Amino acid sequence: MAEVAAAYEEARHDPEFFAEYSRLLRDVVGRPSPLTPLDRLSEDLGGARIVLKREDLNHTGAHKINHTLGEALLARRMGKRTLIAETGAGQHGVALATAAALMGLECEIHMGAIDVAKQYLNVVRMRLLGTRVVAVERGGRSLKEAVDSAFERYAAEPERYFFAIGSVVGPHPFPTMVRDFQTVVGRESRAQFTSRYGALPDAVIASVGGGSNAMGAFTAYLDDEDVRLIGVEPAGRGEAVGEHAMTMGQGTDGVLHGMATKVLQDAAGEPLPVHSIASGLDYPGVGPQHVRLAQLGRVEYVAEGDEAVLDAFGRLSRLEGIIPALESAHALAHAIRLAPTLPSTQRLLVNLSGRGDKDIDHVAATIDLAGDADEVVS
Ligand SMILES: *Cc1c(COP(=O)(O)O)cnc(C)c1O
Repeated sequence: MAEVAAAYEEARHDPEFFAEYSRLLRDVVGRPSPLTPLDRLSEDLGGARIVLKREDLNHTGAHKINHTLGEALLARRMGKRTLIAETGAGQHGVALATAAALMGLECEIHMGAIDVAKQYLNVVRMRLLGTRVVAVERGGRSLKEAVDSAFERYAAEPERYFFAIGSVVGPHPFPTMVRDFQTVVGRESRAQFTSRYGALPDAVIASVGGGSNAMGAFTAYLDDEDVRLIGVEPAGRGEAVGEHAMTMGQGTDGVLHGMATKVLQDAAGEPLPVHSIASGLDYPGVGPQHVRLAQLGRVEYVAEGDEAVLDAFGRLSRLEGIIPALESAHALAHAIRLAPTLPSTQRLLVNLSGRGDKDIDHVAATIDLAGDADEVVS
């Protein structure tokens, strides 16, 4: 990690490194991503107007490609041959596999055997992209075992592998580095908002799992005291242990995955089971930068539950023609709650971190859409 930190420290002061990164964001990711004002939804709600930052329109459909491209660039600069990581639902794995293919690096993704079966489509995507998918058949055969397995490989051969963490979590320099790669989201939205409305948003709202899309959305506004910054955690199905993943709301000081942060943990310091309808948010830790921003009182942390999230998912689909990721629908659900309580002169900027294609099966099963047409003719 010290070697990675030194390499990143050198790279971040090299204008050519960030120039190449910016070229990739433009040519591969398709940046800048647009702002979309939600006129129909806002009129329906009354009150403040909601505007989306469209990270769902990025290549591969979410914000994660912003930091996996940066990590792959650094790995190549360090002379590493292989990117390695674990993945749960497969979103980080696909974004990393994409970056590896683009940059001519090998990629190895460890996944719990249960997740390999559940996330068939993402497994196929990764393999099509030339990535080696390793199914981990031990213990609970899930994300935790995948982390251990990937890390063992990495520790055995650190000169070959670059361990690419998927959020603003883990040991230094990852929270700093992943944050830096994601700040493009806030810098773009700040410039776009100013040129379109001649003003900054009254609030910026983003979902918080590990916290990378939120750090990306918030960082450019930290010095703008009049802009409220709101992070939205998953309240899941209720307050009981295992029913939510509200680390900022209910976690205590601890150590997880090489970082001192807030953790949902038992008395012995073991991480507790968590739940969210959004698989990208069910993490018992959170990036340490969020803990600091809460201490400073700069960012408010709130939570929205599965039911409000499904409602937001449905409303955005029907009223605006946009099917959001369930993670992003947490941020939208909070904007939907807030808008009617605020004057119509205010504008709420919601970071739509990803698109919902990956969630269609799950939502269909939950709201009982699967298999049935609305009408049958013969
Ligand atoms: C992974 C993911 C998240 C959660 O990760 P953060 O690091 O908290 O941003 C949010 N939205 C989408 C679409 C994701 O894929």
